[in-house]
Amino acid sequence: MHTPESEARRRDAADPGHRHLFHVPPADGGRYPDAAYLAGNSLGLQPRATRDELVADLDAWRRLGVEGHLEAERAWLPYHELLTAPAARLVGALPTEAVVMNSLTVNLHLLMVSFYRPAGERTKIVIEDSAFPSDSYAVRSQARFHGLDPDATVVRLKPRPGSDTLGTQEVLDYLDREGHTVALLLLGGVNYLTGELMDIPAITAAGRAAGAVVGWDLAHAAGNVPLALHEWGVDFAAWCSYKYLNSGPGALGGVFVHERHHGDPSLPRFEGWWSTEAATRFEMTAVSRPPATVEAWQISNPPIFAMGPVRTSLELFDAVGMPALRERSRRLTGWLEELLDEVTPGRPLTVVTPRDPDRRGCQLSVRVGTGSAGELTKRLRHEHGVIADAREPDIVRFAPVPLYSTYHDCWRVAEALAATVSQEGS
Ligand SMILES: *Cc1c(COP(=O)(O)O)cnc(C)c1O
Repeated sequence: MHTPESEARRRDAADPGHRHLFHVPPADGGRYPDAAYLAGNSLGLQPRATRDELVADLDAWRRLGVEGHLEAERAWLPYHELLTAPAARLVGALPTEAVVMNSLTVNLHLLMVSFYRPAGERTKIVIEDSAFPSDSYAVRSQARFHGLDPDATVVRLKPRPGSDTLGTQEVLDYLDREGHTVALLLLGGVNYLTGELMDIPAITAAGRAAGAVVGWDLAHAAGNVPLALHEWGVDFAAWCSYKYLNSGPGALGGVFVHERHHGDPSLPRFEGWWSTEAATRFEMTAVSRPPATVEAWQISNPPIFAMGPVRTSLELFDAVGMPALRERSRRLTGWLEELLDEVTPGRPLTVVTPRDPDRRGCQLSVRVGTGSAGELTKRLRHEHGVIADAREPDIVRFAPVPLYSTYHDCWRVAEALAATVSQEGS
């Protein structure tokens, strides 16, 4: 590798990011106090502000007991509303279109209750062949729930032969041919495995023009790439908050439902007391009165101590802003790509993420040609303090996260790969 470490240091001084706002854990049980943490696509780091905010919510419970519902500084009854506006800004939604609740796969199911309604020849659910397993299991179980054969109902779109990524054109071509049979198109905005960013507006427009409902799993897109879900006309979307949104393991997810579906009495929906209008929630009526907003999709009263970390994180995204993050993301990921271009030739390593910065977020996925991805990831951690994430059998994912990753982290990735993976023929 010919790029010197000093060049990484120079870039960090010029473009420092917000690492000081996060706890960066050591690698390998403390052997590397300064880990190169590239696994933010799997679990984001803890903001320094999170603990105090969480303790403040706990204290309110200690001091106030049941009165905290109304009298806590951040009263529990409307607590979720504190998250709504920043969540909406993050995904480009109207405030009535976004809500934080539950976890991702649960939300996908709740949304499919409303938006997967097979009828006549229009029964198919289209996902990508490299969909995250939870999404595959969810759509297959939805097909069975409707009495349909999942093998015949779920279509898995594959990349063209010779291509590692699906490509927006493949999706559009499929819709051209088979759109009339598609009830629901449910793709990942950024693919978890390859890091490919789909053309969400183009696919959404084509899917809807074909008469399908278009939903997006934004697990790897929320907090990673700019989104304009309302403007793009997306029917619904769901995301998790523990990856790029740094809200902690198993954190609450977010949901978007386009306002054109609000208050539609023909949509089936599962309800509970949080589905009804807040103003009448305690009138203890027998029949609900759902508001004409996405909040109608809520069911239960939310876990307050799980909401604090999401709130803290969303405030950070508001403060820094997605446009600035996206710019730094392009610089950092572009630099990691340049460094990988120095070390991959002659080694059994191939970057499978699209090279076009408009077709990816901040993750670069590397296919390893020999040995297992898990073994390589272990060696990177133990021998170099580089924390990456393996997807067996052969993909290692590196995510330089614009909030807290550094140019030096990227330099260490390339150096560690060069040291760990032998050159072919040597
Ligand atoms: C991370 C991820 C999930 C995880 O689902 P949970 O319900 O939050 O456990 C699901 N789908 C995709 C695409 C993911 O990336």
